[in-house]
Amino acid sequence: MLPRLRPLCRARNDATRVAGERTRLTCWFESLVVDSHPLQRRRAETVFASDLNANAFGAGLDRYSQLVVSDSGANPRNGVRVTYLGTNSYQFEFKNHALLVDPYFSRVDLLSVALGAHIQPNSSRIADSMRHVAPTVDAILVTHGHFDHLLDVPIVMSKTHARLIASRTSIDLAKRAGASSGDAVIAGDVRRIGPWKIRVLAASHDRLFGKVPFDQTASQHSGPPQHAADWVCGEPLAFLIEINGQHIYIDSGGTAAPLPPTVHVDLAIMGMALPDSRARLTAALERLKPRYFLPSHQDDFFLPLSEGFQFGPLTDFPRVQSDCAQENHGRLILLDYFRPWTLPAHQAPNPKIQRPGKRSNSDGK
Ligand SMILES: [Zn+2]
Repeated sequence: MLPRLRPLCRARNDATRVAGERTRLTCWFESLVVDSHPLQRRRAETVFASDLNANAFGAGLDRYSQLVVSDSGANPRNGVRVTYLGTNSYQFEFKNHALLVDPYFSRVDLLSVALGAHIQPNSSRIADSMRHVAPTVDAILVTHGHFDHLLDVPIVMSKTHARLIASRTSIDLAKRAGASSGDAVIAGDVRRIGPWKIRVLAASHDRLFGKVPFDQTASQHSGPPQHAADWVCGEPLAFLIEINGQHIYIDSGGTAAPLPPTVHVDLAIMGMALPDSRARLTAALERLKPRYFLPSHQDDFFLPLSEGFQFGPLTDFPRVQSDCAQENHGRLILLDYFRPWTLPAHQAPNPKIQRPGKRSNSDGK
């Protein structure tokens, strides 16, 4: 290497890292829209530019600290404990039982995805994150087959002895990546596992500038998935989890069709990574009327978890906040990585005014 070029290759400071992220994101964006119709592409470029400007790269949760909830001191007993594990990954715990959704700890970098490089689980990052996961897990629920939801699942299954509940396409991908088994489900299915009652719901995947990334519903190859594009979306799912008399709805994002069911829930976790997801927010909140609303999939999942929560460049949390305030359904909350929070129980209804079949609307804070 020429001596005069060496300074350019030294460790980058924050400012240059941010510039690098912007450049790599632009490359990825271009690779996704390159086949689009020219009009669609022009529109996408406009949206892309405005979305990039709407969010400061590297912004974390600091400015929203009043919304971040976590358990303090002694853990409340008999509640459902929720731990955010980054991207759209969650652990739910109740007594000695645990459930995982979309566990993803490898956090493949954007350049590898953009360039179509070979990607694989990062065993040391998985081991680090597994310190926050229960040793035995009843089940892993997966919303769809993209790498940021399914790549690490076979390894997490083997470490936790969990069964996998996912779409037919996701099960096929996971098995080709080494999973020993899987329970292929469709919307309408119900599974009872330990204390959990899991209802499978139809969902959609939000579009990235006009099209769902890696949108196939069937695998293109028969061997192990090797590149980001091999981890195809498949049939998107959402889940309604009933535990200890409480209801938790979770998806990873989506469009206005279909909307979540009209079922009032205690906690709604909805992906908010892209404009499609935000466009359906008010209608979804109107149906779910959650006591607590946790926007999800907002972090930059191309960075390692060790760098802490940073909003992804296409998120728009100020808009989520303002739509949520207008809708006035439930308390908007945020969770930080690996900081458990116990979902407060319903306030006990007053037996003198309780009517049969009527559920309490109390906030239970
Ligand atoms: Zn996805």
